[in-house]
Amino acid sequence: MTVDLETATPMMRQYLGVKAEHPTSIVLVRMGDFYEAFYDDAKAIASLLDLTLTARAKEKGEGIPMAGVPHHAVDGYLSRLVQLGKTVVLVDQVEDPRKARGLVRREVTRILTPGTFVDPDAPPRDARTLAAIARAPGKKLSWGLASLDVATGAFRATHGDAIDALIDEVARVDAREVLLAASLETDEAAKPMIARLIEARAIVTYVPSADASPDAARAALVARLGAEEVAALDPVLPKEALTAAGTALAFAERTQLAPASLERAAGATLGHIAELQPYAAGEALILDQEARLHLELFRAAGAGGKRGTLIGSIDEAVTSMGGRVLIEWIARPLIDPVRIAERQDAVAAWIAHPSALDAVRASLREVHDLERLLGRVVMGRSNPRDLAALRDSLGRIPDMMLALAEPAARSKILARIAAIDPIEDVRASLLRALVEAPTTELGEGRVFATGLDIELDRLIDLAERGKEVLLEIERRERERTGIGSLKVRYNRVFGYFIEITKSNLKSVPTDYIRKQTTAGGERYYTEELKTYEEQISSADELRLARERELYLKLVGVVSGQADRIHALAQALAELDVLAALAVVAERRGWCRPVVDDGDVIDVKDGRHPVLEALSAELGEPFVPNDVWLGKDARLMIVTGPNMAGKSTIMRQTALIVILAQMGAFVPAREAHIGLVDRLFTRVGASDDLSRGRSTFMVEMAETARILRSATARSLLLLDEIGRGTSTFDGLAIAWAVAEHIHDVVGAKTMFATHYHELTELSREKPKVVNAHVAVREWNEQIVFLRKLLPGPTNRSYGVQVARLAGLPAKVVARARAVLAALEAQDLKAGDRSGVGASLGGGKTAPQLHLFGGPSTSAGEKKVLEELRALVIDDMSPRQALARLAEMQAALGE
Ligand code: ADP
Ligand code: MG
Repeated sequence: MTVDLETATPMMRQYLGVKAEHPTSIVLVRMGDFYEAFYDDAKAIASLLDLTLTARAKEKGEGIPMAGVPHHAVDGYLSRLVQLGKTVVLVDQVEDPRKARGLVRREVTRILTPGTFVDPDAPPRDARTLAAIARAPGKKLSWGLASLDVATGAFRATHGDAIDALIDEVARVDAREVLLAASLETDEAAKPMIARLIEARAIVTYVPSADASPDAARAALVARLGAEEVAALDPVLPKEALTAAGTALAFAERTQLAPASLERAAGATLGHIAELQPYAAGEALILDQEARLHLELFRAAGAGGKRGTLIGSIDEAVTSMGGRVLIEWIARPLIDPVRIAERQDAVAAWIAHPSALDAVRASLREVHDLERLLGRVVMGRSNPRDLAALRDSLGRIPDMMLALAEPAARSKILARIAAIDPIEDVRASLLRALVEAPTTELGEGRVFATGLDIELDRLIDLAERGKEVLLEIERRERERTGIGSLKVRYNRVFGYFIEITKSNLKSVPTDYIRKQTTAGGERYYTEELKTYEEQISSADELRLARERELYLKLVGVVSGQADRIHALAQALAELDVLAALAVVAERRGWCRPVVDDGDVIDVKDGRHPVLEALSAELGEPFVPNDVWLGKDARLMIVTGPNMAGKSTIMRQTALIVILAQMGAFVPAREAHIGLVDRLFTRVGASDDLSRGRSTFMVEMAETARILRSATARSLLLLDEIGRGTSTFDGLAIAWAVAEHIHDVVGAKTMFATHYHELTELSREKPKVVNAHVAVREWNEQIVFLRKLLPGPTNRSYGVQVARLAGLPAKVVARARAVLAALEAQDLKAGDRSGVGASLGGGKTAPQLHLFGGPSTSAGEKKVLEELRALVIDDMSPRQALARLAEMQAALGE
């Protein structure tokens, strides 16, 4: 943008000053009823929000591009901009335009960033996480990562040295914004890390290096958490993790507290951020981003809603706090069998005490989102109703603890929760201070209980008595003047007055002083009325001031106990999740799996947790399956025609492992899960088109990464890998990858493939087993049985699937003939030595010359070659028909 400061109006100069301080943010300035953006910001928001781009007239030269949103609807627009990853700086008029001399003073009142914006309309179960990464100096990577949810105060830090682990962890915490020191932008050593972050579509915000220095970051931590707390973290967290944590905290404070907001209460802090929890990234089952997406844990492929996801299927939590914890549990399943058993004990205890379960859940339903509520209180954004909500929530605790007694006898976790501090003292203060249902705003009705404060009671009394006196005046004046319709009334502009209608004007006494003429009559006041008006309004003003004082004091009481409230909120959240898992297990007939350090995955009659629920809705039963992976059967090659259920059974196995390691019950008759340390999934490129990243290169890069990071304790799900390239290449790669997993990695693996040749690997590799998803042929059609059976299939039934998909009968018949000829050719070429055998045995691959015979014309040959090259799996029926029509045309039919 080109800006001429000389000719800029004073308002524009004000704007440019703010913009210079926030060059990468979108700056919106309040002008009249609109928030306006200028120059490039205007162009940006016009296209992002679909607004009209206008121009602000200048004294000289062309206009300044401008776009604006109405102030009353600004919240919706802000939330959209932040969702899109933008940082928005709001500039407001901070003095009353009527009182300002010259230009109205404007200041930054809000800074909204993707990682810190506390959107009041945000889905209550979504955490909005800010992350910060710091890196120890030097060539070798040593990283620290902090995550902070400003709304709830959840604050954690971890560290590591592998770049893959860092990227996985950023994805796991679902960071909306990642902070990096500005100095890293030009640091050669940080390049690969930043490239990977960008590739993972992280929204990176660079903060001034001075603010992100180890010293500045530590100072921020000490100021918030106290020197002792920080010193206690030193042995647990390396410097870079503390630096990351301090950077995140300082950024949150800068964006949340510094701006000169008019509404913000004095003394607001981020007091709900009471502790920094260190954790080791390796303490959980590691799910990489690919697995998270592919298994549809939180977002369904395609539409992207919650329907069809694991969370959508098992979230029976009744509080949003519980809902958020459930998300964390899914994202970080445990790897410690003792802790897993403790959660299972709690779930089992609930199932054993159904009436206590109902009672506790009924109480929990009445508990508000204490974490966010506390966040609002300490950040100075609460209102009296929030405090009443806290009071009422605390009021549910005693009953809840009573109901908890019995199940607590069977569960260590429940016993710990049953012993939690119920914070009676805070509740007592709130009970004493507030009326039953206070108004949202101060000064608009009753907030504080009578008897709390003598001064307040006196002022309220005065104001109320004043109003009685006015009624008395009205009665007396009616009598004196004989005007029955005489009224003493009030409005904001004119205060109190006596209203006389036109027909009665002749009876107005001489001591009435005229105030205003209206269409219907005249308004008057008297000396007496004026005196009372002054008394009443000064009492109102004093009352508001007193209420504000009392309110801040009460906020102080609550903020002072932020740690305890936070701890209680976390305990309730955990209680809620465990109860929710019990409800799901009970309702859907899930079993308690045995989870141990063993080396098998043994599932009897397992179901897909999401599909079983959906198919129940559709009235089509879900077919259960057994899966056994273990010592002598580590790599399972799963074959079967398209649509048979290969992908489903692999995903179901992964989901059962995740549920088991979360401490939940699982959809199976019986299950034994040897702990898994990492879970990887990789789907062949063509199965992945919906995500718009179908390149073979990506597929191979991810496969490479899996081979690098998987261990013998990992579970690998490879679905049609090698598909993104030509048949022979693909088969060769699939073969080599499977061999490598078997010989070197040793991870338990399910490998779905349409290359039947791969089933021959079991002849050479002792721990490879074949399995197939069965279908039955019936009247030339196939029936999907959905059963996983031992052994390979040798047919792809592609022709039958094509028929199911609606390919015309004539084409299906021709395809059958071609297939028969191909199969005959295959037999001729070398008994049953398929491509697989030749790869395994080192012989040369057989050549298929079916279409090269003398009876075939050049045109036909071309068509047949095209036909052969078709990847039917990648085509919609419609595309297939279009291609067939083209081929027919080419043959001159
Ligand atoms: P493949 O990977 O073999 O092509 P999918 O696993 O994608 O097949 O399954 C195709 C469809 O079959 C799924 O969308 C699902 O609706 C259905 N399906 C799969 N497994 C089962 C099952 N065990 N019971 C019932 N329906 C199933
Ligand atoms: Mg599939």
